[in-house]
Amino acid sequence: MTIAQTPVSLRRPIDGRHRQMFVDGAWVDARSGRTMETRNPATGAVIATVPRSDRQDIELAVAAARKAFDGPWSRFKPYERQVLLLKIADLFEKHWEEISRSDTTDMGMPIVRTRANRNRVIGMLRYYAGMATSLHGETIENSLPGEIVSFTRKEPVGVVGAIIPWNAPTAASIWKIGPALATGCTVVLKPSEEAPLTPLLIADIMNEAGVPPGVVNIVTGTGAEAGAALAEHMGVDKIVFTGSTATGQSIVRASAGNLKRVSLELGGKSPVIVCADADLDRAVPVAAMSVFANSGQICIAGSRLFVERSIHDEFVERLAAHAKGLRIGDGIDPATEIGPLVSEKQLQRVASYLEAGTAEGATLVTGGTRLVEGALAAGNFVAPTVFAHVTDDMKIAREEIFGPVISALPFDTLDEAVERANNTPYGLAAGVFTRNVATAHQLSRKIRAGSVWVNTYHAIDPAVPFGGYKMSGYGREGGVEHLDEYLNTKGVFIKI
Ligand code: NAD
Repeated sequence: MTIAQTPVSLRRPIDGRHRQMFVDGAWVDARSGRTMETRNPATGAVIATVPRSDRQDIELAVAAARKAFDGPWSRFKPYERQVLLLKIADLFEKHWEEISRSDTTDMGMPIVRTRANRNRVIGMLRYYAGMATSLHGETIENSLPGEIVSFTRKEPVGVVGAIIPWNAPTAASIWKIGPALATGCTVVLKPSEEAPLTPLLIADIMNEAGVPPGVVNIVTGTGAEAGAALAEHMGVDKIVFTGSTATGQSIVRASAGNLKRVSLELGGKSPVIVCADADLDRAVPVAAMSVFANSGQICIAGSRLFVERSIHDEFVERLAAHAKGLRIGDGIDPATEIGPLVSEKQLQRVASYLEAGTAEGATLVTGGTRLVEGALAAGNFVAPTVFAHVTDDMKIAREEIFGPVISALPFDTLDEAVERANNTPYGLAAGVFTRNVATAHQLSRKIRAGSVWVNTYHAIDPAVPFGGYKMSGYGREGGVEHLDEYLNTKGVFIKI
């Protein structure tokens, strides 16, 4: 199944094979004329080509975003931005099936999952629509001599460069565009070269909603060319980035030229701690999907599974049985639970960790191989994999794999579990399974991570901030704090 075969209801000036990018309200190609391919990772088929932009295209997009920021967009009242965001949300409702199919065919996420993300994405748009009319500074009593009134104003930071990964293109785009529009910023968004197609559909929705030209620009290209040019650009006021920690570090370095603001949602090596008193019927499937969902290509993947020793063997056995029962295939089939990895490159990366696990002495309980039976041979499929007898120093327990691989590590005391869970440069998320409410509170306090889920996983809500500790990044997405990332606070003093 290719996107060209899906019913197209969005108005795109494309022939089904080549998609232009969206700059200053117009569909354009790269100035150089270069293009790049994007493939369906379940079939290996090329589904489209998109412009491969470079520095000169970024230049035009940033100029368009600046012109819109200084011009018509600055005259939009908060209520008008709210109405626009609500209209965009309605259009997402209308086109949701096409968006879901686009994510599935471009990056492999099973359609059951892309469809199910509906409320999260549209809820985010409506949450930020609500916030657009809630932005406010405060009056502050000062101790200055004479009569001087002091207050703060919240002002949009300006032109925002948004750089996103491939593992959840729709959600990642909306988590950047939503708060930017709510606060009055303009955006140049660069999708991942692995999955540029849904962000281009989103551009079409912006057009259909009547977003003024230049307010949202979607520029396709590689990280080394378009991404780096955006991160360095002196006319960009802020970069919001989601991706790997290594790229995040280079973005921070690139931002130094004009000291633009940066917020970073980076990688993780999240621990899941299963206590002996846990409800195992609940813990087994949730722990399994904490890492197998989206074939492990999620930043919050619960890839280090600490299990209390008395239940370790039983838990690992049940986890492996669950893994073996998962239905793997082309995500466009609604029965598929586990789709492919996004690319051949990602497949090689995961394969290297499978080899390292065995070489370092971990026990392979299930999985550990590429799947090549029948139609799976054309795609990048890896069996959900459970390693046991893993030690904290092994590569598979230390490094982010971004694949369907879980490492089981036994523990004896809660203090030990917390210490080992925290013994990582990352701090994005963590899971705890226990029936003891005191343990739930103690562990959620002691674990150094931006999100802690107890007896559940993956719970993300527009109103609750999400982000990292340590090398998982800084800044928050979701909640009121998210808007502050897109705002400057100005202090004003008026002598009366
Ligand atoms: P990546 O860092 O390779 O690429 C992310 C984006 O950055 C892409 O658009 C890419 O083109 C661009 N890029 C690459 N090099 C660049 C450079 N030098 N300058 C500017 N831009 C550049 O990450 P990926 O492989 O696409 O995604 C996987 C990573 O993303 C994982 O580490 C994962 O944990 C992380 N991630 C984090 C979150 C989160 O919320 N914390 C969410 C999803 C993914």
